[in-house]
Amino acid sequence: MDTWSGTAITTWAQRAAVVANTDFERLSDLEALLAGAASPGPAAGPDDLAMAGTASAGLREAFLRAGDGDAGGSAAALNLVMARLYARPRVTVDGDGWRTYVAGRGGSPAAEYLANAAWGLAQWVGRYGPDRLGRCQASRCRSVYLVRRWAAQRRYCSERCANRMYAAAFRRRQAGLPPAGEGTAAADRPLGAARG
Ligand SMILES: [Zn+2]
Repeated sequence: MDTWSGTAITTWAQRAAVVANTDFERLSDLEALLAGAASPGPAAGPDDLAMAGTASAGLREAFLRAGDGDAGGSAAALNLVMARLYARPRVTVDGDGWRTYVAGRGGSPAAEYLANAAWGLAQWVGRYGPDRLGRCQASRCRSVYLVRRWAAQRRYCSERCANRMYAAAFRRRQAGLPPAGEGTAAADRPLGAARG
């Protein structure tokens, strides 16, 4: 029974970050998420899309509050997501052993995916702490993410964002400009405007 091994917890917690970073405007946004990851079942419908949008907003709040140092508010947001999804652990007999999973509202593949993502995130924070939920500090990036390695990922969600900000800082130095406070209003201004 390895459903909730450390690897599975991290996988589902990462999926929670993806849910939090997705807008779910169209059914195709949800279908893309479920492709290859959800248990087989009926195709996602409008109810699933609405549920995904609500879960996304709640998970995002959990990340942002944790990033602001509000661990209690983050936990409350995550609890609300799980309550709305009716997320509850289930055990089934699978061959000689038991398989555990987290069921979601109505039992659709989307509901199960979202419930497992929320549960995985709760487990991950239980292991590593709420201060490992990050908000990317790069300008023009709204992503939330799991801080996997302490030093390297403290500020940026991805190598792409880190490289973009390092390149911008390099250009500023070349232009003789003072370093922008990354993630501040100055960094949000286009470089051209900052020069003028
Ligand atoms: Zn980013």
